[in-house]
Amino acid sequence: MGVLLLVHVLLVAVAASAPAADAWGKEGHYMVCKIAESFLTEEASTAVKELLPGWAGGDLAEACSWADTVRFRYKWSSPLHFADTPGDCEFNYARDCHNTKGEKDMCVVGAINNYTAALKDSSSPYDPSESLMFLAHFVGDIHQPLHCGHTDDLGGNTIKVHWYRRQSNLHKVWDVNVIETAMKDFYDNDQSTMIQAIQQNITEEWANEEKQWETCRSRTKTCAEKYAAESAKLACTAYEGVEQESTLEDDYFFAALPVVQKRIAQGGVRLAAILNKIFGGKSRLQIQSS
Ligand SMILES: [Zn+2]
Repeated sequence: MGVLLLVHVLLVAVAASAPAADAWGKEGHYMVCKIAESFLTEEASTAVKELLPGWAGGDLAEACSWADTVRFRYKWSSPLHFADTPGDCEFNYARDCHNTKGEKDMCVVGAINNYTAALKDSSSPYDPSESLMFLAHFVGDIHQPLHCGHTDDLGGNTIKVHWYRRQSNLHKVWDVNVIETAMKDFYDNDQSTMIQAIQQNITEEWANEEKQWETCRSRTKTCAEKYAAESAKLACTAYEGVEQESTLEDDYFFAALPVVQKRIAQGGVRLAAILNKIFGGKSRLQIQSS
């Protein structure tokens, strides 16, 4: 009994010290990168394959969660997965893009700009393979609304909720629970069927707006600030009506699922646009030249 209790205490302690913000689960990142692959130019596709480590087998999607596996080995990279805000539904780079020590640019927006610049610059000291895997992962993360959640609850991580009957937290609901429930209920637990459904939406339901997804007025190197601003706004809606120990079920699920699917689609389309811009080639997408 004593040992069991100790084990329990240790497990709780481990859970409590879990990272401030996780990431789309493996599925979310995989889907973002799979969708991106389908929008790459031939030149970009070749360049990406050459940069990927051997274990990825030439598939960008296989390498899309690598950044999560190194976030403890590369401790400095941990704050690069998110950009929390004070909760005013807006993202302000100067105010919000820093780590807990106040070092500037240490957030997901800064990271996307940084690794995009590194991949464009052949004299960059960064390992290009790692830059590519970081970029592909962070473009996914920035589209998960709770990665631009509120600072005081660590992007929803400290808001304990019940997802139907299971214990979860608000951040995890958006990282994995919505996707898992959708896969189970609608896609026969088959990831490729869900990816196909999202791709079909891109060419049909979202065909008109899709062209706008990768354009922005920002003069920064990428449009990452815009993506964070969108997520910060969506995060505010995600928090609505949610309190400690809230039970989230069908109502919440059916409101969240279309948002999750669209964010995965936008992440994929935009990642492809960024990579096409870096590696060149004639793109199917309309990419701003500036
Ligand atoms: Zn992440």
